Amino acid sequence: MDLELRDRVIIVTGGSNGIGLKVVRTLVEEGARVVTCARDEARMKEALAPLMAEHGDQLLAHPCDVVEASTVNELVDAAVQRFGTIDGLVCNAGRSRISTFATTTDDDWRDELELKFWGVLNPVRAAHAHLHDSGNGSIVVMNAILARQPEPRLVASAAARAGLLNLTRSLATELAADGIRVNTVSLGLIATGQWRRRFEESGTELTWEQWSTELAADRGVPLGRLGTTSEVAPTVAFLLSRRSSYTTGASIDIGGGVARYV
Ligand code: NDP
Repeated sequence: MDLELRDRVIIVTGGSNGIGLKVVRTLVEEGARVVTCARDEARMKEALAPLMAEHGDQLLAHPCDVVEASTVNELVDAAVQRFGTIDGLVCNAGRSRISTFATTTDDDWRDELELKFWGVLNPVRAAHAHLHDSGNGSIVVMNAILARQPEPRLVASAAARAGLLNLTRSLATELAADGIRVNTVSLGLIATGQWRRRFEESGTELTWEQWSTELAADRGVPLGRLGTTSEVAPTVAFLLSRRSSYTTGASIDIGGGVARYV
């Protein structure tokens, strides 16, 4: 099936690692023109170097912190200057904070809420008029199954994600009139730099395979393993494409069956 993404202009926040990097590659390989960002410019350039060498005419990397409105505005301006329009936006930049109610400080709460909310509000605001002009705008927000199924060790992230899921649903309703669809991808455990870092910091003598399989068992993942970025990117591409033109306000789980709600 041709997703008809050729020449569509799509912004992907947080494209220097993990899921964002895979989404960028997938979209570029589908023929889209992609603008991405991260805070650490050097790391972003290094991560994107192979793709840039092959598809440099389709790719723009610009440093940006999604919680800083001014840098997000610069990112959007750079995208429009280079490619003339914006048809899609993937709000992917972020992370999860491991903390309980007892260990989450006031600053941690503020940081978490700021990242989850402004990491979406800033790019949506900045790109809104362009997505409207596109006539077929699509926004995909990366969220987590945690939004509906909280875990005690991720108290602040879970609360912030629940709010984000609610916000995303409201955006879908309000932006429908502008011809912009808004959907959520709700992730379970996906093997990326985040989990690799936790594996390395754990000091375990297990291999990555053993450690990640144990993690999946501990979290009750029916498919018995972590997901891969290759198992996420195609769903994001589909939601950005005209092939999903009647889908808005939806949340699609990619979690190996870990969600216990129906
Ligand atoms: P990674 O840590 O592998 O990559 C995160 C990317 O986002 C990097 O490019 C990072 O670059 C960028 N980033 C982080 N903060 C900001 C910021 N404030 N402004 C701009 N860029 C930023 O994450 P994953 O690929 O694992 O996760 C991607 C998304 O999916 C995140 O929102 C995450 O919370 C969510 N998610 C992931 C899960 C998983 O199991 N992997 C589970 C549930 C949700 P830099 O640091 O240089 O800014």
